[in-house]
Amino acid sequence: MIKSIRDMLLINEIKLPLNEDEGKLKEIIEHKLKCRIRSFEIHKKSLDARKDPHFVYSVIVDVDHENRYLSKNVIRYKKEDLSPVHKKRDKICAVIGYGPSGIFSAYRLMEAGFKVIVFEKGKRIKEREKDVGRFFSEGILDPSSNVQFGEGGAGTFSDAKLTTRIKDQYIEYILDILIRHGAKPSIKYENHAHIGTDEIRKVIKNITDHLISKGVEFHFEEEIKDLELDSNRKIKRLRTAQNTYECDLVLLGIGHSAYSTIEMLKEKGVYIEKKDIAIGFRVEHPQSLIDERQTDNLIREANEYFLRYKGDKGVYSFCMCPGGMVIPAMSEERTIVTNGMSYASRDSGIANSAILIQVFKEEFDDGYEYLHKIEEAAYSYSNTYKALAQNIKDFMNNELHELIFESSYPLGTILYDFNRFFNKDDLRIMKEAFLDFDRKIPGFIDKGIIVGPETRSSCPIRIRRNEELVSINTENLYPMGEGAGYGGGIMSCALDGIRIANQIIKTYE
Ligand SMILES: Cc1cc2nc3c(=O)[nH]c(=O)nc-3n(C[C@H](O)[C@H](O)[C@H](O)COP(=O)(O)OP(=O)(O)OC[C@H]3O[C@@H](n4cnc5c(N)ncnc54)[C@H](O)[C@@H]3O)c2cc1C
Repeated sequence: MIKSIRDMLLINEIKLPLNEDEGKLKEIIEHKLKCRIRSFEIHKKSLDARKDPHFVYSVIVDVDHENRYLSKNVIRYKKEDLSPVHKKRDKICAVIGYGPSGIFSAYRLMEAGFKVIVFEKGKRIKEREKDVGRFFSEGILDPSSNVQFGEGGAGTFSDAKLTTRIKDQYIEYILDILIRHGAKPSIKYENHAHIGTDEIRKVIKNITDHLISKGVEFHFEEEIKDLELDSNRKIKRLRTAQNTYECDLVLLGIGHSAYSTIEMLKEKGVYIEKKDIAIGFRVEHPQSLIDERQTDNLIREANEYFLRYKGDKGVYSFCMCPGGMVIPAMSEERTIVTNGMSYASRDSGIANSAILIQVFKEEFDDGYEYLHKIEEAAYSYSNTYKALAQNIKDFMNNELHELIFESSYPLGTILYDFNRFFNKDDLRIMKEAFLDFDRKIPGFIDKGIIVGPETRSSCPIRIRRNEELVSINTENLYPMGEGAGYGGGIMSCALDGIRIANQIIKTYE
């Protein structure tokens, strides 16, 4: 399935002063090897902040007769070409949803030679930007074109952080695709790489244009509303409001927020089970508070934090957006949902992050209903799309005063006492967590505000699949990504899309 390519060299421990141009690396490598090289790429870059701070690089070098140069810090590096073998294959693969799981499964299946048809209920990015812009400035929500729905999926109006705890060889394959279509090459070697909403939009558009040029068929603004099953529970056709489509295999990457599609799947008897979730809110702080504590902040970047508290339940920071803004991320009218976004420059001066507490599946009957009630209740309280907000200090002291600074949330906020938001036990754990976070980042309580609610960090369901990654009771349905319960975040969902595509390539070799 995979083509492998020639051996290269991996050279570690190349040092460069902080203010030196990376263009100098080629010269240093050639000097070290005492020969001309064909090309090189940066593999890793880290900051050595001890005495005389400098960057340390590992580089992958393409050079003739590589064996001649092997030594302690110069080792052989085998770079595999992970693209699949391309040949004509007769199955029609319908990809429902064009977020990270849909994009990367479609890409790989196209590379392998399948006929791929993509259905996306939202609009293309240019139109979607207008709809999202109108919502952010005028509070007019389009339920089918918003932060959750449209070309690129939920990660398009985001920080586009590319972090994941998963170790997988296909991470590099995904990053290479992003770079080929316009992302900066440093996403491959930066710690905690991010692209920013402005850049990811361009990259996604380029990927779509590329897929179209390779024959992938796109149906934007077409929501799959029905599946036609035969007596063996095999999907024969898909229905949108506009048309009916034949397909052999169905890849379902509908994301976290497709309430209506989940209802349809339930009605069709697709096996779905509950899973644990987390709820909470965003916190905002001056970015300077977060940067101050970084002893190694020599490169003047807006810094991140990762906070965890393990009490009777886990409380943790999630999707931290340095130098970003809190955004309205709802897809249904008369609901409020917050999330975070940053531009590539991360220069708003405000740090935001979700702070979430675990909710176990035993605590609710229907997870979507549970979350929806919170989102609707927030709207009823606000009676507008203004988010609910409170100073963290006031939250800790059961008080309500004017905010210490204005939230970056574009539609404004309304004061609300988040002590009412949690049950007694969760409130206690949440407050314990804040005390712990304040020890780790002094000023976290006094200098921060809460904006919420945040309800869509994790999906409340899993569409169970078997060892061959097919739904356990629907013969040709491949659930994938966040909405099916197999990912959370851009990279993990992209990887899940690749996993599904690889399984299909293997099954229909
Ligand atoms: C504001 C925001 C910021 C985020 N920031 C980050 C970040 O910085 N880093 C990170 O790793 N993750 C981030 N995330 C999470 C990440 O975006 C998601 O985990 C990821 O996009 C999920 O990918 P997916 O392919 O499973 O689904 P999604 O990206 O949710 O895409 C699903 C798509 O399916 C479409 N769809 C749904 N139903 C149908 C239907 N019936 N017919 C046709 N189309 C349908 C939807 O319109 C949508 O476009 C963020 C999320 C949000 C909302």
